[in-house]
Amino acid sequence: MACILCKRKSVIELQQGGLCRDCFVRYFERKVYKTIRRHGLFGKHDKLCVACSGGKDSLAVLHLVSRLAKKRGQKIFALGIDEGVKGYRDKQLEDMVGFCEEHGIDCVIVSFEQEFGHTIEQLMGIASKRGLEISQCALCGILRRRLLNKYAKELGATRIVVGHNLDDEAQTIMMNLFKGGMELAARMGPSTGVRRHPGLVPRVKPLYFCTELETSTYTKLLGFKVLYKRCPYRKFSYRAYVARHLDGIDKDYKGTKTSLIQNFLQILPMLKKRYSGGKIPVCGRCGEPSKRAVCVVCGTLDKLGIK
Ligand code: SF4
Ligand SMILES: [Zn+2]
Ligand SMILES: [Zn+2]
Repeated sequence: MACILCKRKSVIELQQGGLCRDCFVRYFERKVYKTIRRHGLFGKHDKLCVACSGGKDSLAVLHLVSRLAKKRGQKIFALGIDEGVKGYRDKQLEDMVGFCEEHGIDCVIVSFEQEFGHTIEQLMGIASKRGLEISQCALCGILRRRLLNKYAKELGATRIVVGHNLDDEAQTIMMNLFKGGMELAARMGPSTGVRRHPGLVPRVKPLYFCTELETSTYTKLLGFKVLYKRCPYRKFSYRAYVARHLDGIDKDYKGTKTSLIQNFLQILPMLKKRYSGGKIPVCGRCGEPSKRAVCVVCGTLDKLGIK
């Protein structure tokens, strides 16, 4: 297939047609910068914390956002969370450190082990001994989000930049429609949250309109050292189940995920308005924003017997 713009050999087939290497790289980068601009994801004076797993999405976003930040003389650092999944996250974080060294980006790594005294695998062992019914990804997710917010805040960041792509967002929309509820859905979009709270660093998603395929094509074309495999536990998660079904629909009805996002963005302002009232209370234990007297992290750690 020839590139629809310059007739050279295409490297990727998009809905609008094929694109060659150079045209695709330009298209991808422009799309990311346009998302940052149009959705006001961050300003020149924001200190940026890029949440980095070391996977393709986070390295792609780190690469593009740090390039922009350097041009503007803006402060930026990468924050990696090591949940303790051996043979996976340790390898990804090695890639992240190598990438940061090569590009002169400050980087910080925080682990579950140093913070909670146990890796995610050990925490699941404790949960099963105590008869606590929680899935590994649910536990991992709440603890990771907590550490991201805590350290981004401690290190003075005013925005957390995440590498969530269009596929991730489409899955989360469906997960919230099926289970999570509309209040959770209202927090979504390129810039997360409904109400500002000094204890919550807003999370922004420059890859919001980039598909999984586009992001992996981009990192491959740029030759990033990236582990293209998933966490071994992901296949057991609800997200993976929803992703499999969405991928199936998108294969038969091309563009389904993109139109899901576009349609969702039309109703998102109404959802944000609907849930924008009132103050966000804080957890009586840790002081982090929480609707309950004791937040879900403190409550779960209590049940696990972890101080
Ligand atoms: S797939 Fe699940 S266990 Fe693995 S890192 Fe993600 S949330 Fe954690
Ligand atoms: Zn071209
Ligand atoms: Zn708490």
